[in-house]
Amino acid sequence: MFLKKHAQDTYIKYILAADGRILLDEYDDRVLRNYVKGLDGEQLFYEMTQSLSCLQLWDVSVEMKGSVQFDFLFISDGRIYHFEIKNFSGNYSFMHGNLVSEHGYVYKDVLSQLMRADYKLKELVRSTRYEVISRVVFINPSFRVEGWRGHSNVLFHHQLDGVIDYFKNSEVTREDYELAAYLIKQHRTHNKYQRIKYYPVTEMKKEMRCPKCRKLSLCHVKNMHYTSCYCGYTEKLDSTIFRVIDELEILKVGPLKITTLVEWTGLNRKTIERFMQKYCERQEKYCYSLKNVVKTKESTTFLPEIT
Ligand SMILES: [Zn+2]
Repeated sequence: MFLKKHAQDTYIKYILAADGRILLDEYDDRVLRNYVKGLDGEQLFYEMTQSLSCLQLWDVSVEMKGSVQFDFLFISDGRIYHFEIKNFSGNYSFMHGNLVSEHGYVYKDVLSQLMRADYKLKELVRSTRYEVISRVVFINPSFRVEGWRGHSNVLFHHQLDGVIDYFKNSEVTREDYELAAYLIKQHRTHNKYQRIKYYPVTEMKKEMRCPKCRKLSLCHVKNMHYTSCYCGYTEKLDSTIFRVIDELEILKVGPLKITTLVEWTGLNRKTIERFMQKYCERQEKYCYSLKNVVKTKESTTFLPEIT
């Protein structure tokens, strides 16, 4: 049971919203590609493990003489299992403790990075009786590594069924909840990138983004109340418009107006007017805001009352 899920910081939200609409500079582009690749791996691990009964936290960052980040923490049977997810794909060689890709990219010892986080986690829960167990998970099924002799701290995709089975019948105790609540309380969202370079809105491509393939290729299906993308994704038209409004806010497009929404969605004015009437209230001339009742966004943390 996930009590905390990953949440994007403002900078990541911004580059995700700007991606494909304008040419990103080299730095933003690199951060974006790395983020998306990493997130795809974490998303896969999340989906594979989300039906487990033990307490689970996704993405906890703690300030402890420098910040340390834990991808996944599972609490079960007097232990905290810490999983660091790596989404490397393709063929690698293992040389002198480093992973070297076919293209010659070298990834420095991933195990020492894991052990640093493991040490910090042990410090963090020192006053409890919980034992810490840390593993690197190479989540991508296509990842192959030549010269690898095996390591007890490393798991590959084909070993995950065993891991999932292990947690299947976990029983959650009050103490587990207390520890989860403590860890969530320690979490700090930090903007590790520090800066957002805002690109000119007027030069951006104004089309609707598909949340599945992330391309600007979501289209309104004529005379129907839904949108679809050639990747196979479909959704209700109103949900698409809500997402567009979110993106416009992140991109700092300015006040919410009917003309703005028509321009950024390509939908006809009547459709936008119907949406506005249902979900928005009029502010000053031509400007609208979402009604408070529809504003509530999905929370990324969930902590039941401990009785
Ligand atoms: Zn798509």
